[in-house]
Amino acid sequence: MTPPAETATAGDAPRTATPLASPFMTTPLIEFNDVTKAYGDGPPALDGLTLEVRAGEALAVLGPSGSGKSTLLNLIAGLDRPTRGTVTVDGVRVDQLGEAASALYRRRRIGIVFQFFNLLDDLTVADNVLLPAQLAGMPRKKAVARAGELLAYLGMSRHATAFPGRLSGGERQRVAVARALMNRPSLLLADEPTGALDTASGQEVRKLLTELNRDGQTVLLVTHDLALADTCATRTVELVDGRMVTA
Ligand code: ADP
Repeated sequence: MTPPAETATAGDAPRTATPLASPFMTTPLIEFNDVTKAYGDGPPALDGLTLEVRAGEALAVLGPSGSGKSTLLNLIAGLDRPTRGTVTVDGVRVDQLGEAASALYRRRRIGIVFQFFNLLDDLTVADNVLLPAQLAGMPRKKAVARAGELLAYLGMSRHATAFPGRLSGGERQRVAVARALMNRPSLLLADEPTGALDTASGQEVRKLLTELNRDGQTVLLVTHDLALADTCATRTVELVDGRMVTA
């Protein structure tokens, strides 16, 4: 696969170029092998979970509150460690990473989209999107070109100099997606990405995530939004009491 040219695009270009990570690999992108996470003496948050996600999939993880979805995301992102079992993402044994290596892993390989966007309100849209590249030490010129390319891809070029407070919820989530994609992550994690949006914006973000996955981005989303799972997911699993009940 030829990597997309890293040039800035003026204006909102049609989504033909795909500034995403390569979806082609032979081993699973995510592998949970008999993973248990217990926080105390009570029942474990995850209980012997085995799960594989292949590159190119869009996996929706459904489940009631307290079923272990956030724990699953935290283990994939290396924000927490399993009590037992192994977590491998993109060839990295995430469960074995120290703090610094874990931060580096997140910066390089994972993009995360949150329910409440987590944008910095005193930075412009462009500066929010540039932030992960700055933290990763990408040369400024290259980073600016990449941010321009992503904002165009997501139809947000005209808002590059706006502050997030001026945008609608759907637009803010687009910016959050652009930021998450900045360092070409192997995996895009989305934690209730439509949870704070009105109907129209939710629909817009469902469409966007579906298109990203069709363009090759591997996506794992945790959601209560059945419409999101129906629209976007190539596969759905359900967690109940830390165990997978459907696949
Ligand atoms: P979900 O995201 O599906 O709501 P969580 O993964 O947040 O579920 O929680 C699963 C279980 O683990 C719940 O019983 C929750 O109370 C418990 N839990 C999660 N995080 C912690 C923590 N940091 N300390 C203690 N218990 C926790």
